[in-house]
Amino acid sequence: MIADISRISSEYKVCQKTFRSSIFAVGVGVHSGAKAKISFHPAPIDTGLVFRRIDVTDKENSIPATYEYVVDTKMCSCFGNKAGVTVSTAEHVMAALSACGVTNAYIDVDGPEIPIMDGSARDFVFLFDCVGLIEQDAPLKALKIKKEVSFTDDKGITVSLSPAQDGLTFDFAIDFPARIIGHQETKFTLSKDSFKKEIAYARTFCQLQEIEYLRSLGLARGGSLENAIVVNGDSIMNPEGLRDELEFVRHKTLDAVGDLYQAGMPIIGAFKGEKSGHYHNNMLLREVFKDASNYEIIDLNESVEEAEKNVAVA
Ligand SMILES: [Zn+2]
Repeated sequence: MIADISRISSEYKVCQKTFRSSIFAVGVGVHSGAKAKISFHPAPIDTGLVFRRIDVTDKENSIPATYEYVVDTKMCSCFGNKAGVTVSTAEHVMAALSACGVTNAYIDVDGPEIPIMDGSARDFVFLFDCVGLIEQDAPLKALKIKKEVSFTDDKGITVSLSPAQDGLTFDFAIDFPARIIGHQETKFTLSKDSFKKEIAYARTFCQLQEIEYLRSLGLARGGSLENAIVVNGDSIMNPEGLRDELEFVRHKTLDAVGDLYQAGMPIIGAFKGEKSGHYHNNMLLREVFKDASNYEIIDLNESVEEAEKNVAVA
């Protein structure tokens, strides 16, 4: 069978990529309420994505953005290193990095939280479009799923990754008692364009009671209608309304895009999730990497060359 070269080339950048130059954004930490600055810098070939806590100078302050370094998944995906240095609320920026095809970068933050921006990944995508990417002289590798791998928690919530011809697809469903959310489903194939059109703008959401509870614990101090959809009973409190009627399930898909990039490379597979979250996404990757027969790490340059050869002999 002849592979579709244009699809491989456009969906997957066959070369590693990094930022053309440095760029930064300023926002607030959703829990601390403190001003937070994030800056993105070019990094050499095979660096991967590395968070650096620039406010920490007395111990190791860098944390690779891979699944083994995820130390907390209760309210967000939080990365941490052996020295106990952490960076939380990383999933939205990870989603933007994944969709835009950034392979290597240093991501500096001046505190323990990534700024929440507007609760979506839109500002990060805009920033990456502004600075631009450059191709690096090294092939990009991808994680090709060879057989179905799933993770089920003690409540029966299951997530899975199955083999796919090419690309990464998402099939996501949620169910909430609040009528404004209810049952929502979405299917999505990851590319930069589709991410920008369908997913990037979808904001995080929470229930009003959750915020009140979190505030009583000294958390969510930076949370507001500026950076989250707040559900109260069967309606939402944001005066501007929803950006899209499927914004809730699309945000959950955004989270999954970000979490799956903890693989450290693009995935070729089909993801399925229902009522799942950061914990399940991280456990799923741990399951995948537990058994080398679950996957193959392929060189995307070679897969394009192979496809070209097939076309030549066809
Ligand atoms: Zn989120």
